Amino acid sequence: MNPKRSSTSADSTTATVPALIVGGGPVGLSASVLFGRFGIPSLLVERHPGTTVHPKARGVNIRSMELFRQWSIETQLRTHALPPEAMRFIWAESLQSQEIARISAQQYESGQHSPTEYCLVSQDWVEAELCRCALAYPSSQLRFSTELMAFEQDNTGVTARLVNRETGEEEMVRAHYLIAADGAHSGVRQTLGIEMQGPDNLRHLCSIYCQVDLTPWLSNRPCVGFFFTHPSWSSGAYMLSVDGAKRWLFGVPYQPKGSYQGQDFTSLTALAVVRSLVGDPLIAAEILDIGFWTMAAQVASAYQQGRVFLAGDAAHRLPPTGGLGMNTGIQDVHNLTWKLAATLKGWASPALLETYEAERAPVARTNIEWSLENTKRIVQVYEALKRGDEKAAVSGISEQHRHLESEGLDLGFVYTSAAIIPDQTEPTATSPSQYTPSTVPGSRAPHVWLMRDGHLISTLDLFDQHFVLLVGPKGQSWCEAARRLAYSKGLPLDAYCIADDGDLQDLEGNWLSTYELSEDGALLIRPDGHIAWRRQKASQEPEADLQGVLGQILGLAM
Ligand SMILES: Cc1cc2nc3c(=O)[nH]c(=O)nc-3n(C[C@H](O)[C@H](O)[C@H](O)COP(=O)(O)OP(=O)(O)OC[C@H]3O[C@@H](n4cnc5c(N)ncnc54)[C@H](O)[C@@H]3O)c2cc1C
Repeated sequence: MNPKRSSTSADSTTATVPALIVGGGPVGLSASVLFGRFGIPSLLVERHPGTTVHPKARGVNIRSMELFRQWSIETQLRTHALPPEAMRFIWAESLQSQEIARISAQQYESGQHSPTEYCLVSQDWVEAELCRCALAYPSSQLRFSTELMAFEQDNTGVTARLVNRETGEEEMVRAHYLIAADGAHSGVRQTLGIEMQGPDNLRHLCSIYCQVDLTPWLSNRPCVGFFFTHPSWSSGAYMLSVDGAKRWLFGVPYQPKGSYQGQDFTSLTALAVVRSLVGDPLIAAEILDIGFWTMAAQVASAYQQGRVFLAGDAAHRLPPTGGLGMNTGIQDVHNLTWKLAATLKGWASPALLETYEAERAPVARTNIEWSLENTKRIVQVYEALKRGDEKAAVSGISEQHRHLESEGLDLGFVYTSAAIIPDQTEPTATSPSQYTPSTVPGSRAPHVWLMRDGHLISTLDLFDQHFVLLVGPKGQSWCEAARRLAYSKGLPLDAYCIADDGDLQDLEGNWLSTYELSEDGALLIRPDGHIAWRRQKASQEPEADLQGVLGQILGLAM
């Protein structure tokens, strides 16, 4: 993309839209769904003719599944999930040889912490379901085979030049805001001159997506993946199951620029690699796609420049070890879109948008650190194998289960920014591997089962497009104040009293203790389900207090 290649000046033929999303990967598609839910018209452009063919990610963590549950795509996605009996990684020299170890691929279970579970489902299905979901919102336009060629921004908006790659037709679009979800090599980021910080070129890998029948070797030991330790793959090779049956991804190191052991990487080379890893020189395999990717551990030096926001791989490049890249990106736009919606609808000042980077960049840094540790742990195994130190290799392999022990990263991230009002309490000590429910401001509001009109709901079902005030049995005055304020100021603020005779009933008798709240206290939760503020006791002036709190969060003098 080169903004100088031609003018982007807006004229009378320019279409206008509140939000332009560049990139139809999982992150851009999630942004499109979210804008649809807020009723904010958006236009997503994707240069490819459809969603991805190449299934990269497979691990959808609990927090992302909670969002998918809310968007009603969870059940359908699970129909494409890898089967439970396959939840293991196998380490061996080759498919033919004796196994060195089996490592569980079962992530932590959500237990009481969520109404949903982790899911291993390939990215092509995730994107297809997100696309279907986005298309159900009349205000969300998706345009495939359409590329952003150039853009310029001024004080009132962004002007973008788009081209239809099939017809060559050009179109100008004027948007209030632009979300760059255009991937690791983001042209938008480069045009803005935003640098990436952290190491690049950690490894170059070729990913071969193919259809091959491995039943002769795997019928009685289904697995989600295989790590090969054969000396000819001394820096690591793997295969990952895509559909639990005949579609597989094979990964091998390669030299940059597409060469592989001195040759060009063609379908024939790919076939030779598959046959060599399977250990059958004649096996029939259909090569469906070949992708090249570079492992990096980088975060953008800025997430926002004026009216343009980076999200997903455009903002951070995570090593895939740990399965957090797509998840981190989906949660970026979950954080960003409610703020853009609030600004566009006039119930927040643009200052709220500055909290996006303050809240999300630290999450990306923590997730990168974790993923890098996982990479190092794998490298140590291959180094031990190269040295011929079998004992160290076996002991290293037994440590690999730690990659998936990231419940604390998944559910326990706590935001600090101007859109969170601290209350002098320290966040509960949390570890990357273990989540402890907390309502310290900035935390994800915990899951508790409740009854509403005779139906079972999760507290998480309450947090969607509005702020929510939750109070206990003696908190009615807070509730009434919130309802008066919502009415008088036109604010999207709901209030619920959770009590036997309240709006919602506490099914298991644990919501006050889980929410660490006194019977006359109150808690304010943002549309993204994070705690904005809490107070442990009744107030003489609840309406004035709530008005002050919301004014501070939204950056408005009310
Ligand atoms: C081997 C492997 C395994 C992985 N496993 C996991 C996992 O288990 N869990 C996980 O969370 N993550 C995983 N990831 C990471 C995950 O695949 C990425 O983080 C994810 O695809 C990022 O999504 P995105 O939407 O930000 O970017 P992308 O998926 O890269 O999408 C960006 C889109 O923007 C489009 N685009 C770019 N420029 C333009 C333009 N100018 N105009 C129009 N369109 C444009 C591109 O065509 C592309 O479709 C894995 C990655 C790899 C390589």
